[in-house]
Amino acid sequence: MKGVIFLGDRRAIVKDFPDPEPGFGEALVRMKATGICGSDLHIYRRGPDLFKGREDRIPGHEPSGVVEAVGEGVNHIKVGDRVCINHYRSCGHCNQCAAGYFQWCPESRGYGGPIDGSHADFVLADERNCVVMPESVSFTDGAFIACAGGTAYSAMQKLDVSGNTTLAVFGLGPVGLSGVLLAKAMGGSVIGVDVIDERIELAKQIGADTAINAQKEEVLDVLREITGGNGCDLAFEASGSPAGRTNAVKCLRRGGKAAFVGIGNNEPVINPTEIINRELTLMGSFVLPLQQSYDLINFLDWQQLSFAPIVTHQFTIAEGAAAYQVADDSRSGKVVFTWTTD
Ligand SMILES: [Zn+2]
Ligand SMILES: [Zn+2]
Repeated sequence: MKGVIFLGDRRAIVKDFPDPEPGFGEALVRMKATGICGSDLHIYRRGPDLFKGREDRIPGHEPSGVVEAVGEGVNHIKVGDRVCINHYRSCGHCNQCAAGYFQWCPESRGYGGPIDGSHADFVLADERNCVVMPESVSFTDGAFIACAGGTAYSAMQKLDVSGNTTLAVFGLGPVGLSGVLLAKAMGGSVIGVDVIDERIELAKQIGADTAINAQKEEVLDVLREITGGNGCDLAFEASGSPAGRTNAVKCLRRGGKAAFVGIGNNEPVINPTEIINRELTLMGSFVLPLQQSYDLINFLDWQQLSFAPIVTHQFTIAEGAAAYQVADDSRSGKVVFTWTTD
């Protein structure tokens, strides 16, 4: 099979690897769609000295495809199933695994981190990580469910978005855009904020009621005006920037709630006194528990919703280097590897 590897300093190449074979309890999944995520780019941008011990590691943690083969002991997943894959392999027995929080398992191993990821023709997955999708949910949607879309969905569940809420979304990369798309489908009034015009346009195209450029407009003034002077009920922070984090707190009405998913800068920007005085609820959110993968598949199916409008670029795996260059530019929407053969 072909798979992408990194050489450091923003260089990626495509290499031939032996096809993996499923062991006990494992499924071999033929990839059909897998996205490039910001976390892949963090590794892509590292210098070569940080690659010791992972020189041949395949990146990618948004796997979706068709089960090609199953190992012994696999009882529920079968060859031909269309699946998306929870991207943390785990022990399957601890209290966190029992709750579906594979990412919190002491033995968790994320695809593209300590184990080979999905930017390759095949991926090995534990049976319990494979979630079967109906025909109505595309492989591209399956890739979104695994990380970018799933992360947004889990945060929307914490925020409890509804037709009675205004939501400001800070950072209109693929995760922020997924938040816009989901929050609109849940009935919310959504305002997107970014500094890149292409992404602001994309947010409007996928349904944001308003989208503003923080470098051209006074974000807090605009949000206050839109909400009749009250402030937003909810904020979703996907930029990871000090300005985005600051505004995600400041834009809230009294008693408002914010969920933070953007990883980036570690500058302290939140004032506890402000949280107390305005009785704010601030939450961190990190990918999604397994059960929400099932819920999100149903939500997309029932709402006839797709993350596809967020995809701006598609590549084959042989074009791995070019795909990473486009994603690294950070002006695009989602960059996805797809397979159209057989
Ligand atoms: Zn990710
Ligand atoms: Zn566990």
